[in-house]
Amino acid sequence: MPDPFEPLLARAHAHALDYLDHLPDRYVGSLASRDELIAALRAPLPPHGEPGEHVIDLLAAQVPRGTTACNSPRYFGFVIGGATPVSLAADWLVSTWDQNAGIYVISPFVAVIEEVAGDWLLDLFDLPRESGVGFVTGCQMANLTCLAAARHGVLRRVGWDVEADGLQGAPRINVVASAESHITIDVALRYLGLGTKCIQRVEADAQGRMRADKLREKLATLEGPTIVCAQAGNVNTGAFDPLREIADACGKHGAWLHVDGAFGLWARASHDAGTRALADGIELADSWATDAHKWLNVPYDCGVALVKSREDHRAAMTSSAAYLIQTQGAERDAVDWVPDFSRRARGVPVYANLRTLGRDGIADLVDRLCSRARQMADALRDEPGVQVLNDVVLNQVLVRFDDDDDMTRRVVVGVQQDGTCWLAGTTWQGRAAMRISVSNWATSTEDAARSADAILRVHKALRRG
Ligand SMILES: *Cc1c(COP(=O)(O)O)cnc(C)c1O
Repeated sequence: MPDPFEPLLARAHAHALDYLDHLPDRYVGSLASRDELIAALRAPLPPHGEPGEHVIDLLAAQVPRGTTACNSPRYFGFVIGGATPVSLAADWLVSTWDQNAGIYVISPFVAVIEEVAGDWLLDLFDLPRESGVGFVTGCQMANLTCLAAARHGVLRRVGWDVEADGLQGAPRINVVASAESHITIDVALRYLGLGTKCIQRVEADAQGRMRADKLREKLATLEGPTIVCAQAGNVNTGAFDPLREIADACGKHGAWLHVDGAFGLWARASHDAGTRALADGIELADSWATDAHKWLNVPYDCGVALVKSREDHRAAMTSSAAYLIQTQGAERDAVDWVPDFSRRARGVPVYANLRTLGRDGIADLVDRLCSRARQMADALRDEPGVQVLNDVVLNQVLVRFDDDDDMTRRVVVGVQQDGTCWLAGTTWQGRAAMRISVSNWATSTEDAARSADAILRVHKALRRG
């Protein structure tokens, strides 16, 4: 009998290499309209099926026009990493091995890989080594996991078991967050039954940092179980909340401090003392959420939840059932640390990437992206009518043109259409801005220079009218 895998995998391999080959030079935006994609892809569900080779070719044919090159070295939209070669190779194997990584007994290998990768991350970020670690789909779920542990922890301390008794009739939880916290914090609070109206907002400064003095004032008015959500890496400016001061205030108040460090937590891995200092005091928090698919550049999707109290982490997430064979010893069941039950072995590409890069390689990756962001800011800021709005402390740059909302938005659209690079707009403190996020491992100085040139070319053309 012929091998049913070989022809399909060979084809997929050829398509993958072709995609990667064109990636650095292709038009960075997408070209196909929805109508075009529907015309190519929608058909009555075939009654008898079609050959797999045909289906794989059909998928690959729509990719060049139907996707943006969001893993291109000149893609600066949102905060989007690419995939390093080894993490992509490891991810292929994850699909091939098709392990259900939910419990140890199904995949001892994956359980141990994730245990080791988790230890490496705690070491790399220099966080309490006893912390619980869960590999989730992204920082949204990492925020959810951490805040579920926080909800459990603050209520346990006042004698309420939220996992058994729920929130109805429970002591009220105060939730405090910066005016600049990421929307996924709000969403996590929604999922947790706390709702978004419970959030008490603390003013942020001009860079988007939570004001520690205002937090202290706020905490002084609060009694009972309290969770504070701080941030390492503002999604617009890259700025860090003053974490040591915030941790100090939370410690005095007995509040649980959660830090959303989706990309900013990686500053801890930098060679540069100034970059590391941005996150000074972060080790004093109770929980940390981060992404691996952003700065670490593993393929989608992978985030990480880290919780200092393993007991609170486990109590919030654990599941057990009569038919599950769970471990009694040191072996680790992932179901105890994440919201998922069956799950992909998403810690494997993390392990592969960390091992391949090593501590120095990760520091280089962090510092390289920061330096490309500074390079772009420097290339732009001296041009007539161009303003960089933020202190470029990390990998994020905010740019405004002719101090004008309309012109700024037109430059953003013009750059997207030009196709040399891709980025998007935002509103920063009431003013339109272009947002540049340098998050791809492969972005070279030449990519940064070409992209800055394209931005300036579009701006000049619009100015000429
Ligand atoms: C990207 C991001 C998130 C959400 O992460 P996902 O991986 O998209 O779920 C949360 N917080 C911050 C600060 C982010 O940049």
